[in-house]
Amino acid sequence: MMDSFTYEALPMRVVFGSGALSRIAEETDRLGLRRVLVLSTPEQRDLADRVAAVLGDRAAGVFDQARPHVPVPTVAAASRAAAESRADGCVAAGGGSTIGLGKALALRQDLPVVALPTTYAGSEMTPIWGLTENHRKQTGRDRKVLPRSVVYDPNLTASLPATVAATSGLNAIAHAVEALYAPDVSPVIAAMAEQGVRDLASNFTGPAALRGAWLCGACLGATTMGLHHKLCHVLGGMLDLPHAETHAILLPHVAAFNLPAAPDATAALSRALNTDDPAAALGKLTADTGAPTNLAALGVTQADLASVVNEVLANPYANPRPVHRPDLEALLHRAFRPA
Ligand code: NAD
Repeated sequence: MMDSFTYEALPMRVVFGSGALSRIAEETDRLGLRRVLVLSTPEQRDLADRVAAVLGDRAAGVFDQARPHVPVPTVAAASRAAAESRADGCVAAGGGSTIGLGKALALRQDLPVVALPTTYAGSEMTPIWGLTENHRKQTGRDRKVLPRSVVYDPNLTASLPATVAATSGLNAIAHAVEALYAPDVSPVIAAMAEQGVRDLASNFTGPAALRGAWLCGACLGATTMGLHHKLCHVLGGMLDLPHAETHAILLPHVAAFNLPAAPDATAALSRALNTDDPAAALGKLTADTGAPTNLAALGVTQADLASVVNEVLANPYANPRPVHRPDLEALLHRAFRPA
């Protein structure tokens, strides 16, 4: 029971609504920015150009080379582009990879970031940064990487293919599930997590889903991660697995392991998912994504699992249930094999 807790609010400004992209210049003006570099992946160059058009003469240029896991050479190239264009801030238009690049510029160059998220990953709501060099991803928390304003426009998630939307939505739900049993959960976060899961699980498209992603991302930013995120970080870092798919595959298995030790989280998820077996309901959501449902299908081998187990046990995250080697091996084996 949450009879005692500490809650520290993060400074967040959110502008939400269909067509909110058109308000991006108001947000950069509010921050006093005059020359804004627009960031995107190569695949989302069209969106970056639309953002630059809305910014008009406030746009200093477009850097469209954002890549997964924020490679240090990409950050260096973006920093050069920012310096050459004399940018005083940036707009990160895209998913977690693009917003991660914006955070790296905030961390290293103190450039204020306005985020325009187009997936449900939730990075825009957290002070967590990541940088990858020589196949190692380093992460940390620093308030200065928090976007100064987040513009959520549900029209921008409409272009997500259904499978990508569903796995990205499960990535967001995983943030809420782990927040619900985190050692630093509070009533505020628990309420946000429950509502976030409810908003997303009913439909992975439209304004409610994006609102759910906002809530779930904020929960991730406010709490300590557990076994699920640890497994995803180890698997992603070691084997370069696709981020959202890995979350979607593991979530039901970690929930089945942890929820018996987390009655309040189980009750909240049961209400949000309208079920008396939330782990099974999450398994159904994963099965319905149309994406791979087991680690073997992502190319993971049995031999990889032993290294993952060692790495997870060597540096464990907080978890409601103690994680012993045989339990972890059994959990990973269930996530590994085809159903
Ligand atoms: P992503 O940003 O890598 O995007 C995946 C692909 O989808 C890209 O090609 C992108 O251009 C495209 N895309 C994005 N939105 C689209 C849309 N609306 N329509 C069509 N295509 C679209 O994927 P992601 O899952 O959003 O982010 C994953 C990354 O974010 C990982 O590196 C992860 O570690 C990081 N992340 C960080 C945090 C944090 O708090 N720091 C939280 C969550 C995720």
